[in-house]
Amino acid sequence: MMTNLAAFARENGIKYFMISYTDLFGSQRTKLVPAAAISDMQEDGAGFAGFATWMDLTPAHPDMLAMPDASSVIQLPWKKEVAWVPSNCVMENKGLAQAPRNVLARLVDEAAQMGLTVKTGIEAEFHLLNAEGTEVADPADTAVKPCYDQLAILRRYDMIAEICDYMLELGWEPYQNDHEDANGQFEMNWKYDEAMATADKHSFFKFMVRAIAEKHGLRATFMPKPIMGLTGNGCHAHISVWDSKTGENAFADDSKELGLSDRGRHFLGGIMKHAEALALITNPTVNSYKRINAPRTTSGATWAPNSVTWTGNNRTHMVRVPGPGRFELRLPDGAANPYLLQAVIIAAGLSGLKSEADPGPRHDIDMYAEGYKVKDAPKLPLNLLDAIRTYDADEELKVAMGEDFSSAYVKLKTQEWNNYCSHLSEWERANTLDI
Ligand code: ADP
Ligand code: MG
Ligand code: MG
Ligand code: MG
Ligand code: MG
Repeated sequence: MMTNLAAFARENGIKYFMISYTDLFGSQRTKLVPAAAISDMQEDGAGFAGFATWMDLTPAHPDMLAMPDASSVIQLPWKKEVAWVPSNCVMENKGLAQAPRNVLARLVDEAAQMGLTVKTGIEAEFHLLNAEGTEVADPADTAVKPCYDQLAILRRYDMIAEICDYMLELGWEPYQNDHEDANGQFEMNWKYDEAMATADKHSFFKFMVRAIAEKHGLRATFMPKPIMGLTGNGCHAHISVWDSKTGENAFADDSKELGLSDRGRHFLGGIMKHAEALALITNPTVNSYKRINAPRTTSGATWAPNSVTWTGNNRTHMVRVPGPGRFELRLPDGAANPYLLQAVIIAAGLSGLKSEADPGPRHDIDMYAEGYKVKDAPKLPLNLLDAIRTYDADEELKVAMGEDFSSAYVKLKTQEWNNYCSHLSEWERANTLDI
């Protein structure tokens, strides 16, 4: 479906388009383009100085053009005269290989060439803080076990219902909203879709939640661990792969272990094999490593993994198979770039399919209580540097994600780590001042 944006503007009363792309660190960048200028922009793209955002470019590079993907346009349900259009980055007439939406598009294509359609659903948890972002907005939200708290979610009814109504209107098929396991934490769920559609929805969801929270005088954050001691913001991904020809779920086979077909097992095998390296993409910030490998939270459990293990319907592992025909990767957090998250799932999964990888034995135990008994499972990276080095050492995954992308990403993430290390922390003063 190709949409003519000028016609779309006339039909829907659009005054402005947000021509948006997502940079390597997951920030969305936009130009606000009046409908009167959209025809030219749809053909030529909107110009950006890529270096001014998180891309591996210099100030001397030519303009980076964001080419709107018109078929993915979304009219803002809360500001109907504006429409958001995710875009693909082009430089000198060539797709910019390092740009996250291009990385994903290439991997979706690769899966299609194998006759496969990857479908995913994500659970983008977030915290609602006061406008300054310093503490949980609701002073009464103090329970030790706040998960599913009915009064606390009702106090946020105006905001949560507003967002859920918008998702209904957009046809995303939302089906539940709840207060999550940390004070001030919420989750809203909508139906899974093809990987690119889920990445666009994930991006738009983050934008929408932040915008609507701000309208209600709040600050929404997807930061992996915004409050020490409380459960962090995960972004679990549920994954299934479908046969493009028959339209059947290629992961479903009732005769197999946990209802996961051979192809499902191999795809999972690829995720397990590359898990320590792909953590750089699923857990991309310094703060990410305060969510995984974390000590027990005040609620009793972190709900985040620390090792590369899988199991059936048990939430203490990195991968859970909740039912036949799909599995849940519980590793990703709220800082994951929506496009790179989907891309790395496909990259690792396809590598597993090609090599007929085996995920190894299941460990049907409570990993939080008995994890120490598991001797054959690698530990997830302990910090961002550990993750950068592990990714950099995984040649197969780096090539699958694209060499231009991988070198750009490793370079910028290493700069970020160095920048972090140049900061003197309170902890250092507390532990070192009198030594
Ligand atoms: P939980 O909290 O139990 O992990 P949620 O209900 O919060 O699960 O989220 C489940 C996600 O998995 C939703 O986005 C849902 O649409 C998605 N999902 C369900 N079935 C499939 C499937 N076959 N393939 C991919 N995603 C799926
Ligand atoms: Mg200018
Ligand atoms: Mg959930
Ligand atoms: Mg959750
Ligand atoms: Mg989940």
